[in-house]
Amino acid sequence: MDVYGLIGNPVGHSLSPPMHEAAYEELGMNARYVTFEPEPEAIESVITGAQALGIQGLNVTIPFKQDVLEQVTCDPTAERIGAVNTIDFSTDPPTGYNTDITGVIRTFKHHDITLEDRTAVIIGAGGAARAVAFALADAGAEFHIVNRTESKAESLAAELEGATAGGLSELPSVLPDADILINATSVGMEEDQSPVSAELLHADLTVFDAVYRPLQTKLLRDAQAVGAETIDGAWMLLYQGVAAFEIWTDKEAPVSTMNQELRNRLE
Ligand code: NAP
Repeated sequence: MDVYGLIGNPVGHSLSPPMHEAAYEELGMNARYVTFEPEPEAIESVITGAQALGIQGLNVTIPFKQDVLEQVTCDPTAERIGAVNTIDFSTDPPTGYNTDITGVIRTFKHHDITLEDRTAVIIGAGGAARAVAFALADAGAEFHIVNRTESKAESLAAELEGATAGGLSELPSVLPDADILINATSVGMEEDQSPVSAELLHADLTVFDAVYRPLQTKLLRDAQAVGAETIDGAWMLLYQGVAAFEIWTDKEAPVSTMNQELRNRLE
């Protein structure tokens, strides 16, 4: 039996096990996807132990995405962003990938949204915003990052081609000319709030919300009300998993099965 899994702390509410196991079942694979919650100080032995046990692949989430860098050879994308969310143990040393970036790119591709030469606004400067910003830079978009803590937006923008930065108060001046708006903050998750005043949204925007619990955030409902195209956060979650599945198995992932499994659990 092939074993894949997720390391993070906490991982109790992760949707990766049902999403990946739905794919194994669909393709008739004898495989399991298991979650592990190691103590932060044990991370080095976790990776060497996984390798010794013959685990095929691990996803990596908070707080370990940087901690595993020293134990893997990074592919160029993971190297540049400085974070790994997928480890492939078929090589020695294992190879580290960042499929969060792939997840963002494939999300826009799935919705036929071109990123090249488009103007985007990203709200947020944490982990999700970092993956979104690197994806947009790779795809040739021009984008402005705004964040509650302005200095974090400035540090992120300084790493990237085509990026500028500012504070949340700039939203009224930058949104009228934007093609794409991305919420990469956690606003909308705990409470029914939006990071953007509804009157700033317009019909020419494509609005992507990285928040996936709930799927229909206030931002997305407000955007739909003005006729904007909307993309929910489950797409990014889906496509980072699809990319990891394909790296580990060399098989084409059953995307619609994985998507259905995720949506059954989120809606
Ligand atoms: P994070 O690293 O902790 O960053 C949180 C971000 O939200 C920061 O920019 C923070 O601003 C901002 N923020 C928090 N509370 C705010 C408020 N009240 N007003 C304005 N800004 C606020 O978290 P993360 O890992 O990036 O996750 C952010 C969201 O993306 C979460 O909802 C997470 O579930 C989601 N996510 C989705 C996917 C996916 O696949 N769809 C993947 C990863 C994350 P400051 O810098 O000022 O604190």
